[in-house]
Formats: sequence, structure tokens, C-alpha cells
Amino acid sequence: MAYDQTATEVKPTTATQSAVSPNGAADLAARLDAELRDAHPLTVLRKAYETFGDKLALVSSFGAESAVLLHLASQVSKDIPVLFLDTGMLFGQTLDYRKALAARLGLTDVRDLRPAYTDLAVTDPKSDLWRTDTDACCHIRKVLPLDRALGGFAAWITGRKRFHGGDRLRLRVVEESEGQIKFNPLANWGKAELDAYVAEHDLPTHPLVSQGFPSVGCWPCTKPVDDPNADVRAGRWAGQDKTECGIHVARAPGAAPTVGEGI
Ligand code: SF4
Repeated sequence: MAYDQTATEVKPTTATQSAVSPNGAADLAARLDAELRDAHPLTVLRKAYETFGDKLALVSSFGAESAVLLHLASQVSKDIPVLFLDTGMLFGQTLDYRKALAARLGLTDVRDLRPAYTDLAVTDPKSDLWRTDTDACCHIRKVLPLDRALGGFAAWITGRKRFHGGDRLRLRVVEESEGQIKFNPLANWGKAELDAYVAEHDLPTHPLVSQGFPSVGCWPCTKPVDDPNADVRAGRWAGQDKTECGIHVARAPGAAPTVGEGI
């Protein structure tokens, strides 16, 4: 399968690097989505970088499918800040993969986001909150650290895809969220395109994929999946109604941005 392979790094124009005003974010997202909804992921990433420059971040779990988006982004700029949520509950294989993949792609600015010490001390002192309240656990280990980190950016890139199902079936390529612009360059791609891209570029896969994990999150909340017809995310919070950690869920109006101190 042929892809746009031009590896020229994109330079953002100074006129378009400023942050978006909250009132303008929804209109801008709608315009960008109309322009990019059928575009190749690399085109989406280039437009995002041209538009937002150093106000753009990429959020990656360094999970089962992460290599594709990170490789695409590295062709636009190896200096895009990559935000990695190190929840303290990740598989050791994920931490190893994060280091190896970042080195292989030459990414220069991978930032490890960790839960705030005070949030852990107050809310999860025994590191067992996941047993009784996964939403609260995800909130202090994922949502709050990411909210804090994204405060310095006007736009961010995610690796979500429509074929993952659930709420993602209606995913737009560009959307507005909390006054920021979210780019989802892989929204239109299915497993066949992802597999072809990995093969074409000989990208390393997460070590747990070969052990039956089609999606990889925290170890307490991720199970291997036997059924080849099951949803990609069937092993995440298996047996619960929960399907998302909360970082892609709209915050309630007036919600406090933090419950503790900074990282
Ligand atoms: Fe906690 Fe599980 Fe959420 Fe990880 S996925 S932050 S362990 S509830």
C-alpha cells in the first residue's frame, strides 16, 4: 500500500502559532475538520503543526498501535512534545517499549507525566483504588496529570480511531475539546491500514501484542483477548461498563482542574 512518504520536516509559520481563543476553538475545529476529514494522516499532522507550532502536543500511551502515529509525527517534526501518561500502574514492557520506540524514531521531547504525590497520598495511599473505583483512579493517574500538562498547549493530537467502536464510532478528524483543538489523524484508518503501515516501515510492535493483548493500558485493568472478533478494546476494564479512562470525556462545567499540588 502506497503512502505519502515525503519526510521533509514542516516549519510552522509564526503567524499561526498563537493560542486559539476559547470562543474561536469550535469554529476553527469545524473549519479544519471540513478541510481534513478525508485527508491522509500525514496531511493532517502537517496542517496541525503548521497551524499551532510549539503550541501543539501529541498524547501517546506507547501502546499496541502507538508506533504508527508516532512514526507519522516524526516525519513532520521529531521535536513535537509527546505526552506519555506514566500512571505508576503500567506494564514493565510498556516502559521498555516507550524508551526503545522513542529512540528508534529519534523523538526529542517525550515527557513522562506522573500523578501528583499529594493526589496519591490523599486519594490512593495504598495504590489499590483501582479495585473499588476505577473512575477515581483514572482521574488522579491520567486525567489530572494530562490536564495540567495540556495547559501550555492550544491543540493536541490523539491516536483514536473509529474502528475501536463505542463512542469513537462518531469520531471526527478534528474536534474541539475544553477550548482546545484535538486532531485525530487516524480516525479513518482501520486495522488493515495500520498493519500495512507497520509492515511497510518495519516498526517494532509492543511486546504484549504477541501475548494476546490487542490494546494495552495499566496492568490491573488490561486483559488479553481470546476472541479474534472482539472489539480491540475488549480487554480494557473487562467486565465493567467503563470503556474510556476519562481524558477524552468532556469535563463538567466548573469542575476543579486539580485536587492536589503539581507533579
Ligand atoms: Fe487506575 Fe486502571 Fe485507570 Fe490505570 S486504567 S489509572 S490502574 S483505574
